[in-house]
Amino acid sequence: MDKPFWQTKQLWQMTPQEWESLCDGCGKCCLLKVEYEDTGEVEPTSVACKLFDSETCRCGDYANRFTHVPDCIDLSQTDLGALPWLPRTCAYRLIGEGLPLQWWHPLVSGDPGTVHAAGVSIRHRTISEDDLADEADLIRYVVDWQL
Ligand code: SF4
Ligand code: SF4
Repeated sequence: MDKPFWQTKQLWQMTPQEWESLCDGCGKCCLLKVEYEDTGEVEPTSVACKLFDSETCRCGDYANRFTHVPDCIDLSQTDLGALPWLPRTCAYRLIGEGLPLQWWHPLVSGDPGTVHAAGVSIRHRTISEDDLADEADLIRYVVDWQL
């Protein structure tokens, strides 16, 4: 049997459809982060982008996301090596590093729910940045989620 595309193609060789299907739906790249001025260290918070839907664990308007959130990062146009905060479980990072997808990845399991069942996603674990009273409060939401 032929191997699936994620085992045979480099990221840059994938079609747009293949590229999009590689996202596991964990939502972790949609968390706001804190960067410490003195060390440059970046830590995630439990505060998600205003467009993030915590129920579906997906972007609320993916097709038009750059209109709403101009600084949203288009991973397909970015050197992933320049994003050290990209979660270790992120499929783009795994494939880019020559590592396999895990059993819970929807492409492997055939079930979009396994990323949640395995506890890998941030579904139901976040608040929206719109609910932050003051941006300076963000540091209070730093989490140790071992992303
Ligand atoms: S961290 Fe990677 S796999 Fe998870 S939602 Fe973001 S792009 Fe998709
Ligand atoms: S705009 Fe959408 S894809 Fe970009 S960070 Fe926000 S929720 Fe995530």
